[in-house]
Amino acid sequence: MKLETTIQGLCASLKSARAEQKIIGFVPTMGNLHQGHLNLVREARKKCDVVVVSIFVNPIQFGPNEDYDSYPRTLEQDSQLLETVGCDYIFAPSVEQMYGNKPRLTNISVSNITADLCGLQRPGHFDGVAVVVTKLFNIVRPDYAFFGEKDYQQLAVIRQFVRDLNMPIDVVGVPIARAEDGLALSSRNGYLSEENRQIAPMIYKTLKNAEQELLQAKPLDEVLESIKVALTGAGFIVDYVEARSLELQKVETFNQDVVLFVAAKIGATRLIDNLQVKYIS
Ligand code: AMP
Repeated sequence: MKLETTIQGLCASLKSARAEQKIIGFVPTMGNLHQGHLNLVREARKKCDVVVVSIFVNPIQFGPNEDYDSYPRTLEQDSQLLETVGCDYIFAPSVEQMYGNKPRLTNISVSNITADLCGLQRPGHFDGVAVVVTKLFNIVRPDYAFFGEKDYQQLAVIRQFVRDLNMPIDVVGVPIARAEDGLALSSRNGYLSEENRQIAPMIYKTLKNAEQELLQAKPLDEVLESIKVALTGAGFIVDYVEARSLELQKVETFNQDVVLFVAAKIGATRLIDNLQVKYIS
């Protein structure tokens, strides 16, 4: 495994792989890796000849009051983990390497599906993601790119601009990796106090409970309300609880497969999760 910190270095390293027609797989991350990230790398390893993982905390996807400065940066530990799952190249560029020192005048903005859910509380977030992922795609030029369903809306945004802009990349979604108690793994879980870590799995429990209620034909609006009530009762500040189609369109009733979405704060930590519920007619 090789660490590259410059665009030039990475491109030079990938040149021979490309010349030999090797299939290149790419896993973009912000580091502080956990099993969720490693699952993406394992998927990439299965499908591709060469696996590139980027570690870059992207400043432009963080809002002014978000955790950009305090976001955990653990390159040493991440390298050790990546070695165990067969990563070939880590690409860990500096902010200057990625953004240079001249103003950026180009934006990539996906409309409609970014208007709500996380887009509402985090204005500009998905533009920041779209810009950095496009830059990374242009640098790595992968055949396949792997993203987690944990960030379902992000995955939809990426699929959308890849399709809209004819990027020749296969985007692969990977299921959510969870702790034993159901909490979706996240680098931000490390911010949780011991007490809040005990409460956090409530999100997944309420989602699983909601799934049962939907399958027992309880009306969708009542199910969403009961998630909100349960989480608020447990001490969360609920940002949103929503149901969408798999393509993120609004749904009023449970008459197709849906995704249930939750974003909620416990203490100062904002957690997101989602659950796909299959409709059985
Ligand atoms: P991040 O480092 O948080 O930007 O995440 C990098 C990639 O890992 C994204 O595609 C995430 O969706 C994915 N990811 C993060 N947590 C999980 C998880 N618990 N299960 C599956 N994928 C995840």
